[in-house]
Amino acid sequence: MGMTFAEKILAKYSNTKELSPGEIVTVHPDHLLTHDNTAAIIRKIEPELKKYGVYSKSLSVIVLDHVVPAASEKTALNHKLVREFVKEYGIVNFFDVGVGVCHQVVVEMGLALPGKLLLGSDSHTCSYGAVGAFSSGIDRTEAASLLLTGETWLKVPDSVKMMLNGKLSKGVFAKDVVLHIIGDVSASGVNYCSVEYHGDVEQFSVDDRFTICNMGVEMGAKNSVFFVDNITKKYLVSIGVSSSYDAVYSDEDAFYSRELEYNLSDIVPVVACPHTVDNVKPVSEVADVDIQQCLIGTCTNGRLSDFKVAAEILKGKKVHPDVRLLILPASRRIYEDALKKGVIETLIKAGGIVLPPGCGPCLGAHQGVLAPGERCLSTANRNFKGRMGCKEAEIYLASPATVAASALTGRITDPREVM
Ligand code: SF4
Repeated sequence: MGMTFAEKILAKYSNTKELSPGEIVTVHPDHLLTHDNTAAIIRKIEPELKKYGVYSKSLSVIVLDHVVPAASEKTALNHKLVREFVKEYGIVNFFDVGVGVCHQVVVEMGLALPGKLLLGSDSHTCSYGAVGAFSSGIDRTEAASLLLTGETWLKVPDSVKMMLNGKLSKGVFAKDVVLHIIGDVSASGVNYCSVEYHGDVEQFSVDDRFTICNMGVEMGAKNSVFFVDNITKKYLVSIGVSSSYDAVYSDEDAFYSRELEYNLSDIVPVVACPHTVDNVKPVSEVADVDIQQCLIGTCTNGRLSDFKVAAEILKGKKVHPDVRLLILPASRRIYEDALKKGVIETLIKAGGIVLPPGCGPCLGAHQGVLAPGERCLSTANRNFKGRMGCKEAEIYLASPATVAASALTGRITDPREVM
């Protein structure tokens, strides 16, 4: 019997020849991601850190991104503690305020590579399957232990094969695909499974794959992955990575606990309606819902290709007077590229407000907190009550094209009406 992607990677990292779903293995990951929560993690292990130090200076990747620049004395103190920790223990991969959202930074800095194993103290660590890595979120206590010992345990997940067949129609994007799948399987539909995407995937750029893998955890997945192909290789070359990686592919005769098939040409623009990510409806069913805030950005859809689509829709036009349009680049590099290409200028002229690279309003801590009774249409990945800082507000999730089209009309709008 052949092996799936997850089985192969976990066998490699646990020095085991064969593995089956359900087995527990001890692994030494290549990297451990933490962000602003590094402060809480190191506080958990202060005495142990003093006694033993960190396992390795290059294991940790620390990105300050969640509440940046600091929004209060408390967050400023946390950031200060993290900077002191980085200096004291000589942490190699540290990215301070303004570099970007952790997941984007890990990928564009070439730290997530095909065939690598990365764990992170953030749910959306699953994003790096976009470049053929096995990556998954762990909790803070596990991260603290990993920081000290360099090892942790994982249960070998069941593997699920998702066949994506056919071609996407105009006005339909990767975000619609992943929301459609989540609406179909539910928010817990592939709990603790390794999701592999197969089929006509060459039409998806690495940015698209990032969006789809990023939302893997929103269907319960342990990890999600697109296999390395020419699209991946071209992307890796564009960020300065040549051939120093070892791509892993599933065997032809691997066993999958489930196989699901989607015809991409049947998918239409969709939105995830309040207050769960799997409450997915076609845009046409919610087209009369008015909105007060639009957000294009975050680790899900804050890349240049996302802003380009939005700029095409908004070029020479003005956002609706009752709508605030927030633009949140996922990294400084993306921000610079969007500036050079005139995309930011187009968005600003249309009425957009550009926020510093980071998580911004995605987690409801600052920058664009909603008021009771308000609605936000966002390209982020979560819409539970209170996610954007107010339990009496509503969050709808959609593609950058749907958000841009809706920013123009002031109500949820099918992008095909304006494209
Ligand atoms: Fe989490 Fe949002 Fe930041 Fe992504 S942008 S890491 S979802 S808070």
